[in-house]
Amino acid sequence: MKAAVEEQSALMELQRIDSAIMAANNRLKNLPEHDQIKAIQTRLAAGAAELAVAEAELADVAIDLRRSEVDVEQVADRMKKDEARLAAGTGSPKDLETLQHELVTLAKRKAELEDGELEIMMRHDAAKEKVATLKSDEEGLVKLELELNIRIENAKTEIAQEIALRQSERTLVLPKIGSELLDLYTKIAAKEGGVGAALLVGNKCDGCHLAINAIEVERIKTLASDEVLRCEECRRILVRI
Ligand SMILES: [Zn+2]
Repeated sequence: MKAAVEEQSALMELQRIDSAIMAANNRLKNLPEHDQIKAIQTRLAAGAAELAVAEAELADVAIDLRRSEVDVEQVADRMKKDEARLAAGTGSPKDLETLQHELVTLAKRKAELEDGELEIMMRHDAAKEKVATLKSDEEGLVKLELELNIRIENAKTEIAQEIALRQSERTLVLPKIGSELLDLYTKIAAKEGGVGAALLVGNKCDGCHLAINAIEVERIKTLASDEVLRCEECRRILVRI
């Protein structure tokens, strides 16, 4: 096959454009933000399960706390009544003595209950703090996910613009290539990962990066510049510079 040097150089231009389009599409497919979002979603799911447990714990401790408050209140009420009766001084001395004893017992009981209440309050605070921490972690992750989605949208727009630009460049270069050469390029590109034409750099094909044997190199030197070459290894169109 023959093709003018200008046509062959237009073909290399087409290859550069097509490679750029492929690279852009690859970037689009492999945006790192997709993996980052997946990782965030895994963490969000784990966090949601942890939050559910922490909230259930908080609800339990809240019930314990209320119960303990009621216990303390009941003893305190009982003491108030006893103190009032004692202050009124009604009843026999034996009754008053019994009341005094009861008050001592109640005060001890109240102190014990208050110690228990304090311990539950501490557990309640810790459970509340855990829920708050988990919620704030969740908010942070949701915010990050949102930012990553925005970054993906921006990257998509940017890449789409680049592809559109390359497509218009492609439209300009296509008329410079004859249909026979273009068909050959298209066929090889489809088979060879989008690379249908490669430069001959020194004695190497820039498509498969293999060296061309010395005899072939010598033969190439004798060929006219409009002779279309093929790499013997990868069969790509080989363009001389
Ligand atoms: Zn090759």
